[in-house]
Amino acid sequence: MYGLMMNSPLSIASLIRHADRYHGDTEIVSRLVEGGIHRYTYTDAHRRSRQLANAFRALGVQTADRIGTLAWNGFRHFEIYFAAAGMGAICHTINPRLFPEQIAYIIDHADDRFIHFDLTFLPLVEQLAPLCPGVRGWIAMTDRAHMPAANIDLLCFEELVNAHSDDFDWPALDENLASSLCYTSGTTGNPKGVLYSHRSTILHAYGSALPDALNLSARDVVLPVVPMFHVNAWGLPYSAPLCGAKLVFPGAQLDGASLHELFEAEGVTCSAGVPTIWLGLLNHLKAGGLRFGSLKRTVIGGSACPPAMIRSFEDDFGVQVLHAWGMTEMSPLGTVNTFKNRHLAQTKAERDALQNKQGRVIYGVDLKIVDDDGRELPRDGKAYGDLLVRGPWICSEYFKGEGGNPLVDGWFPTGDVATLDQDGFMQITDRSKDVIKSGGEWISSIDLENTAVAHPAVAEAAVIGVAHPKWDERPLLIVMKKPGADVTREELLQFFEGRVAKWWIPDDVAFVDSLPHTATGKLLKTRLREDFRNHRLPTA
Ligand code: AMP
Repeated sequence: MYGLMMNSPLSIASLIRHADRYHGDTEIVSRLVEGGIHRYTYTDAHRRSRQLANAFRALGVQTADRIGTLAWNGFRHFEIYFAAAGMGAICHTINPRLFPEQIAYIIDHADDRFIHFDLTFLPLVEQLAPLCPGVRGWIAMTDRAHMPAANIDLLCFEELVNAHSDDFDWPALDENLASSLCYTSGTTGNPKGVLYSHRSTILHAYGSALPDALNLSARDVVLPVVPMFHVNAWGLPYSAPLCGAKLVFPGAQLDGASLHELFEAEGVTCSAGVPTIWLGLLNHLKAGGLRFGSLKRTVIGGSACPPAMIRSFEDDFGVQVLHAWGMTEMSPLGTVNTFKNRHLAQTKAERDALQNKQGRVIYGVDLKIVDDDGRELPRDGKAYGDLLVRGPWICSEYFKGEGGNPLVDGWFPTGDVATLDQDGFMQITDRSKDVIKSGGEWISSIDLENTAVAHPAVAEAAVIGVAHPKWDERPLLIVMKKPGADVTREELLQFFEGRVAKWWIPDDVAFVDSLPHTATGKLLKTRLREDFRNHRLPTA
């Protein structure tokens, strides 16, 4: 017997409609790439999203077409999120920090029809255009007065919006239809697309807003520092309108001084970002003897949050840290570090130690750890093993089936190695995937190794991540030279220039007589990570 309740499909358009209707005068504030501050309301955002949806129709955008963005956090980006998904198309957010060839690969793989870009990225777009023949139009996210001279034809975002009426009814869509797409480089091989649905997005927005998750409400002013091209800014552009929270978008200025100014001017209560960003902000505050006037809590994730950072936020500035963990493949939220009643009776030292963990699992995400043979390990906070996840906002396969079926008995392997306890607290102890995360962005160790071995003096090379105080990890290149060949550290590092993105170039080189291997001949990275654990990078 079925329940007799309405089967209303979960839809992204319903979020902006709700925010317009019941939080219509709540503000969305954006720092503009063109300079200055833009300020409007959820009602304005909804109206312009409908105008944009009409503009997309006029441009011939069809259901399931991919609409790309190369953009910072701002109101126009927010409108594209809702116009594209709301009309049945797919908003594809692209990470502009990748190497142009990787971006071209991603645009081509996604079959993007149009690409929107902030003016910052014009030089990148001019480079990309000849590499991306499938793109029908490049849309500059600005008004006519700021349209730049370019060596390719451009469309003007404001002209598109203003040329169309707001008379647009969001179509009733199957909740399982795709709504947005985000590629991750946190896997081996080419970047892979994670394709979110309306259903997964709404469920994630509900789950992430809960009190023991991000604790969002209509009384909050939320400033996502995490970019809208990183897993949809951790879902905040969806969970904020769900709750009716005010949104503040920082644009391209993510330095400590600019962020602090915006926090204070707009009365920000809640923020979110990777550890590297907070380091800059905390340094700025400490150097200037400044305080936070309104900030109550901040979500820190994407990389392990250093314990000293948690302590500084909480003890020096009175701001609660929500240490969180997730993945692009998980929409992204999996765990958030909040206490249970029992922990409130513990000593401060005990609670501080608990906060260093990646957090407590939220409803909607199922976690387990397994040993090398796939046998489940106890949730005792001691045993560690490969961390697997499942749930309605976790990816079941990559876009276009790339990389084959990623699941193991219906579970998604995270590539993280962790402990779990009975309360659901998870702590990452290692990573089994062969990638490096620097400032919250992935670096492919395999690409760096392939580049290194293209050097005539290199016999074999391994790249591992080594701890770095600012970037969390930076790549260290470990090289075995060919017999009789000679090459210096500087020559090798120079060899990477122009071959990989500048920020991918290793921070240091170590020369060894031989590299350790597994029984199957693969580089034994665990040993190398152990051997070089205390390696001090010259940049550290
Ligand atoms: P991404 O898909 O770029 O969000 O990266 C997800 C991966 O980042 C995870 O599988 C972890 O390896 C790492 N990660 C994310 N959050 C944390 C955290 N709080 N602590 C340690 N590693 C993290």
